Amino acid sequence: MNNKGTLFVITGPSGAGKGTVLKEVIQSLEGLYFSVSATTRQPRVKEVDGVHYHFMTHERFEELIANDRFLEYAQYNGNYYGTPLDPVEEHLEQGHDVILEIELQGALQVKKRLPKAVLVFIAPPSFEELERRLRGRGTETEEVIQNRLAIARQECAHMDEFRFIVVNDEVDAAADRLRAIMLSCRCLRENLDFTLN
Ligand code: ADP
Ligand code: 5GP
Repeated sequence: MNNKGTLFVITGPSGAGKGTVLKEVIQSLEGLYFSVSATTRQPRVKEVDGVHYHFMTHERFEELIANDRFLEYAQYNGNYYGTPLDPVEEHLEQGHDVILEIELQGALQVKKRLPKAVLVFIAPPSFEELERRLRGRGTETEEVIQNRLAIARQECAHMDEFRFIVVNDEVDAAADRLRAIMLSCRCLRENLDFTLN
């Protein structure tokens, strides 16, 4: 993959606040492309096909797997989630930075496939607070919340494998930290398209 842009992979347990923090960061940084994932999960109220996700059947998702159309994919709580490869490649080639917001297994697949990708783990301040946030969001049933909490404990056990960790205690502070990581990566010599005349 020709990567003129930087690929940022934002991961962390469901309910940690990845979406909330990213929304703040995306509003304040230029030249970013936010990858729209594919999923077989049912849309939530207010979720729009093609904006929040590309919603599709299991059959369609498996067809795309067979045709190698995903940069990564994983099963999470009984559904498939995956990153469509083509738009990511196109934006990186155009020199845009690309953001993936994905769960742990997918993040580790990207790390293997594209070692230059920058991985960031968004951690909740505590498991108690994570549970409060998952409930407070009000988008899942009790059974799904319990499953997500169990997965969260497994995911957080991998936190040590990440170089960058952003604890989402306060949204503004967490967004500042993530923005700082992204801006710093843009200043890395290998990422700069700059010559001094
Ligand atoms: P994720 O994308 O990681 O699943 P969300 O961004 O949907 O998480 O956040 C989960 C819930 O927690 C939402 O209701 C959101 O408003 C809330 N939330 C996110 N960050 C914070 C924070 N720093 N303090 C309190 N609540 C937060
Ligand atoms: P949700 O159902 O809450 O939208 O997402 C569940 C989990 O799947 C979250 O941790 C989210 O980050 C992750 N996810 C979303 N899109 C993708 C994707 O394309 N690939 C992978 N591996 N995980 C994803």
